[in-house]
Amino acid sequence: MILMIGLDAYPYQWRSLLEERDYRVAELHSPHAMSAPAWTSIMTGLNAETHGVRGMYAKDWTAEAAACRPRYLWDHLTAADLESVVVNLPFSYPPALVRRLLVCGYPALPEHFTFPRHRQTDWEFGELDLYNRRRGLTHQEVLDLDEKAILEAHREARWALAHRFLLEIGRGKPDFAMFCLTDLDRLSHYASGAMRAEEVRNAVLTDILELVDRLEVQIAPEWLLLVSDHGVDLRKPTREDGWHVAHGPDLKESKRGVFAWRRADGAHLDRQNVAQKLRLEDITPTVLSLLDAAPISRVEGRPALFPVAPLDEQAQIQEALRGMGYVE
Ligand SMILES: [Zn+2]
Repeated sequence: MILMIGLDAYPYQWRSLLEERDYRVAELHSPHAMSAPAWTSIMTGLNAETHGVRGMYAKDWTAEAAACRPRYLWDHLTAADLESVVVNLPFSYPPALVRRLLVCGYPALPEHFTFPRHRQTDWEFGELDLYNRRRGLTHQEVLDLDEKAILEAHREARWALAHRFLLEIGRGKPDFAMFCLTDLDRLSHYASGAMRAEEVRNAVLTDILELVDRLEVQIAPEWLLLVSDHGVDLRKPTREDGWHVAHGPDLKESKRGVFAWRRADGAHLDRQNVAQKLRLEDITPTVLSLLDAAPISRVEGRPALFPVAPLDEQAQIQEALRGMGYVE
């Protein structure tokens, strides 16, 4: 089983926190540095120009997403007879057919945001994610909130959401489980002053990584993958209205997301090989490859993790090549 954690806006510059926790880390190049095209690329294996989902740039993004209808990772997995549980994934609305459960993340609409629809009663929309919870507030009302209160509300909400995710996994382990947190993206915009202080930022990051550790211990997946859609650049000045522009194609540092992985048995440390710089569209084929499932339509990325033959196997291959006369 694979557990994938989506952290919206975790930048590559903060990779040492992951390396300290024994993850192997690669840079994920995010050319648009925007959540909608980036998450869609991660979950479809297609680049933004192919899948066509621009999100915030579109006037009516739900209509656009429905019109584009690219095939997502769970479409390939369903065709391979594998089960997925995907919770709070940004820009996955409108939910398509998925074998077991898809709970769409922001900016889903209050109706029909899960598939199957009858599971909506288990996932009260308004509390799922703070982005959704503040849907009724004006921009100014959000900016007027106290930063300390925002940070605390985020902490409570992410643990409550993780708890519900664990209850779902407790009903039976799927082949692929994904849990997303959008806190870093939201806090970078709304609590921008606080997030610029290293102490505050590290407290948030530590809490999130402890939450991920807890999920790993409880679920015990074969693989734990961690992915972010883009980074943030917190050094930029705040706009006059208080909204902090922390990422986007014009902010160079925010184009660097993260793909990190580890296995509880430590085998990730010596048996896998990986390119140092990956593309967003490499993630879906990576998961398919780990689950031994072929895609049902074209994907543009390539698997990121591939096994390296152990030394004795390499010696056998060398011997075989010698027998064929290719090696002296
Ligand atoms: Zn994002």
